[in-house]
Amino acid sequence: MLPLLSRVDKEKRDFIEIEYYRRLFLYYLFGFLACAFMLVFGSVSLIEGRYLLAAFLLFLFTVTALNILHLKRSQNINLASWVDAIVVSLLSVYLIITGGVDHTGPLWVYPLLPFMIFIQGHRLGTLTAFSLLALIGIILFKPMEHLSIPDYSMEFRIRYFASLSSVLLFSWATEYLRHAAYVQLRAQGEKLETDSRTDFLTGLANRRYALEKLHYENTRYQRTHSPYCVLLIDIDNFKRINDSLGHGVGDCVLRQIAQSFLDQVREIDLVSRWGGEEFMILLPDTNIDQGHLTAEKLRQHIEARQFDCNHEPLKITISIGVEVSQPGQNPMYFIDLADEKLYRAKSSGKNRVVSALD
Ligand code: GH3
Ligand code: MG
Ligand code: MG
Repeated sequence: MLPLLSRVDKEKRDFIEIEYYRRLFLYYLFGFLACAFMLVFGSVSLIEGRYLLAAFLLFLFTVTALNILHLKRSQNINLASWVDAIVVSLLSVYLIITGGVDHTGPLWVYPLLPFMIFIQGHRLGTLTAFSLLALIGIILFKPMEHLSIPDYSMEFRIRYFASLSSVLLFSWATEYLRHAAYVQLRAQGEKLETDSRTDFLTGLANRRYALEKLHYENTRYQRTHSPYCVLLIDIDNFKRINDSLGHGVGDCVLRQIAQSFLDQVREIDLVSRWGGEEFMILLPDTNIDQGHLTAEKLRQHIEARQFDCNHEPLKITISIGVEVSQPGQNPMYFIDLADEKLYRAKSSGKNRVVSALD
């Protein structure tokens, strides 16, 4: 049987997509904002004759714009975020070293540093952002003779570094908590989805999920014409077990039978609890001969097996109705036909398989 977890792949994909689009949104927001600022301030610097600043800003503008265009084509957000991290680092260091216009350069580092965390995630982003913060600390507090940085006062340097560190710390905390909530929500979503598809007692797929798969299989069949079979299985005289040995033993038998079915069928088959003491097994890529053979194998296996839910070993038998897909029919039609055959199996003595071959 298909492991139930593989069925939640869609939900996993949804969650991964949410995370991907969140980063994409942030990336474009930053990219367009940074491009606009760098283009405007770069052009103004050019007009006002600050050629080095103009050249630097317009160069970073070009890199960021090309990065956006490349991302649009490649969808490789990791590469784009690395390019952005380098742009942010160069720009931050440059603005602090040169002071920008009227020593306002360091102010721009406030939005740049948290952005690195938001786009690269709370682990990598925090590492790169704090590395950059450390570099800024060295530039501010370790005098370097060959580097003529503006005459920031010591009070400014201390307060600037402290406030920048606080902004970064809060950004890290926000990103860390958001990520933790995302992971928890994702795990809960997956569990809820698995629970909604699983029968509580046996751990098999429940009727809701079996119907979903049946419709899916029927749609596939109508296109590919590769037949599928449905087996409707009912435990014989189950009421007697409940009445004589108790409901607990009945439950135990249901669980052991479910496990027997799982052990006997292929990976691609779906075993479900249809209701009460009835099971439905969906056999994709199976014609009526193979379906009948599988049903007979299951019947013989259960008949031969001993169930140990009580002090005394228990013998159980099952009856099975087998139906195969036909073109242009609704899947519920095959279930009704399988049910009729199951009824015939019961009325003709139980512990038998009835299919179109009979
Ligand atoms: P037949 O051979 O004709 O199928 O007879 P039967 O006794 O198996 O059929 P019937 O439909 O009369 O009884 C089914 C019983 O299954 C009745 C119900 O109490 C029992 N049952 C349904 N669900 C559960 C369950 O979850 N646990 C237990 N222990 N019993 C259940
Ligand atoms: Mg029944
Ligand atoms: Mg029964």
